[in-house]
Amino acid sequence: MSIEANNPLLKSWVEVPVGSDFPIQNLPFGVFNSRNLTPRVGSRIGDMVIDLKTLYVLGYLENLPFTLDDFDSDSLNDLMKQGKDGTRKLRNRLSKLFSSNFEDLKANQHHVDQVLIPASSVEMMMPVRIGDYTDFYSSREHATNVGTMFRDPNNALLPNWLWIPVGYHGRASSIILSGQEIHRPKGQIKPSDDEDPIFAPCRLLDFELEMAFITYDGKNLGESISTDEAEDYIFGMVLFNDWSARDIQKWEYVPLGPFLAKNFASSISAWIVTLDALEPYKVEGPTQEPEVLSYLKYSGQKSYDINLEVAIRTESDQETSICNSNFKYMYWNMAQQLAHHTVNGCNVRAGDLMGSGTISGPTPDSYGSMLELSWKGTKPLPMSDGSERKFIQDNDTVIMRGYSQKNGIRIGFGEVSTKVLPAK
Ligand code: CA
Repeated sequence: MSIEANNPLLKSWVEVPVGSDFPIQNLPFGVFNSRNLTPRVGSRIGDMVIDLKTLYVLGYLENLPFTLDDFDSDSLNDLMKQGKDGTRKLRNRLSKLFSSNFEDLKANQHHVDQVLIPASSVEMMMPVRIGDYTDFYSSREHATNVGTMFRDPNNALLPNWLWIPVGYHGRASSIILSGQEIHRPKGQIKPSDDEDPIFAPCRLLDFELEMAFITYDGKNLGESISTDEAEDYIFGMVLFNDWSARDIQKWEYVPLGPFLAKNFASSISAWIVTLDALEPYKVEGPTQEPEVLSYLKYSGQKSYDINLEVAIRTESDQETSICNSNFKYMYWNMAQQLAHHTVNGCNVRAGDLMGSGTISGPTPDSYGSMLELSWKGTKPLPMSDGSERKFIQDNDTVIMRGYSQKNGIRIGFGEVSTKVLPAK
């Protein structure tokens, strides 16, 4: 089935401001409510949210594999049960309804008034009930920087890194939506090698610039998903800030890896941009040497050109851009991550979330964490209000944005923004 919704020539009868992340070629999915509306599934075009429940009730979503319950829901999980075929048909239908070539909906102002709601007047909600959360460690530049800082610059990558898309199982319960504030975590910190650990608020609070993909239902337990099949099991992507407490992490991570340094919060953006909408932005990935094992080999382009930016808004309300990176720098692609995740027979379910790992680029201004940007605190970053940052301070807001752009079409993710309040 072709992805008609991606046609770059399409224009919408809904106004889309110049530079918007949400042209008619995007049509992401999310969940929202408003003062007058119960939680429901929506899409987005320009500055308007599309109420899919009302669209269904008015009869515009007939002859699709969905029921009212799929849209009259506080999560996308039921909708995702229809798999890629279902959501592709739904996105194609939305594309038709809102295209300037199609008059039916546009001509009925009474319906338009019910279906389109200004984005400024809705409250976005967590789009999915996340079952399981896995985080990878797939940026070669990030792994090299961390290895250089904490181990040996000459052997920065651990021996398994070029063979395995390294990952760990995270915690789903503390994944939060953009806009929700967090408190600085507390925990065990070892101030120096010759001191005993103390219990204190984290002093080295960091973000990790990541993206995450959300899966459809996978195969049964015991079966595997190949790299060729992987994209059929990926619904879409969000921006992902995987908050990290570096001082807690340093003391606790041996021998089983990250625990409380990572599970106090991870923030996602509200709109899930479908993998279908990102299809035009596929690019070649980096050369993988040594040659990977056969189950990790892939054909075609599996990397995506997605520009990423991180900014800090300080208490003075001034914003400073501190990082520009790109998702295409990832060494291991999503197809390889999902193939690796399931190669032992581990099953994935609709609503599982897989983090990419910190996305660092090749240059110092493209590093995806404060740890790397300030090089362990040795190179403080100047803020536009005159202050400096080595790590994230109380009342700072970390904002991540991302978009793909080609031939005048921009497919964006909006932003993931989280303010850090003092420790409780
Ligand atoms: Ca991470």
